[in-house]
Amino acid sequence: MRHDEILYGKLARLKLQLETLKLHGHQYVEFPGDYNWLARIGKATMNPIEIVAAQVESCELCPLAKTRTNAVFGVGDVKARLMFIGEAPGRDEDLKGEPFVGRAGALLTRMIKGMGLEREDVYIANIIKCRPPKNRNPEPVEVDNCEPYLKRQINIIKPEIICALGAVSAQTLLKTKTPISRLRGQFYQYEGAPLLPTFHPAYLLRNPSAKTDAWSDLQMIMEKLGLKIPDK
Ligand code: URA
Repeated sequence: MRHDEILYGKLARLKLQLETLKLHGHQYVEFPGDYNWLARIGKATMNPIEIVAAQVESCELCPLAKTRTNAVFGVGDVKARLMFIGEAPGRDEDLKGEPFVGRAGALLTRMIKGMGLEREDVYIANIIKCRPPKNRNPEPVEVDNCEPYLKRQINIIKPEIICALGAVSAQTLLKTKTPISRLRGQFYQYEGAPLLPTFHPAYLLRNPSAKTDAWSDLQMIMEKLGLKIPDK
């Protein structure tokens, strides 16, 4: 590799790290210019979502970076009207680098189809982008480090509705300890979008009787989005 290519690569990584610090509130970090020079250096132009994805992939702000196989950024339509936000990647997601690909993911895909949509029509992400060891709940410091990435994702996608999947997701985003059974079934606000919490697909696998409530939550979303609700 030529020396200037190595130097440009290092500069590109430095620029990304500085922008990551800025995203986390270090406003004093200023780097002149815009992303155009970074785009010129890279093989392809990076759009805003690719830039955040690159920031997440190179993130080392917390110890989860050391234990992850892959960072799990998010998947789906960047112009989606509906965004699902789960908790954190599990084993399958860590291995594949994609959210909701295990058993709970298969149920989420069926729930999306039940709404008359495909997985590709929505956007799916998690609050935490790296797998917590043994699937433990995220630590507050991990949430603090990761939430700016999620907020940036939301800010780019601008979903009309956010669906928070499960207690950890809903309680973290809404900064409350209210149980999911009481949070679900009504709209709140998060980052300028209406947010509706519902049960996590993994919980629904363990408690199939809760599926009726989850389906009624999804219907509330469908109604708000003007989607046709199938006849009973
Ligand atoms: N559970 C989550 O909350 N997110 C995933 O991506 C997978 C399982």
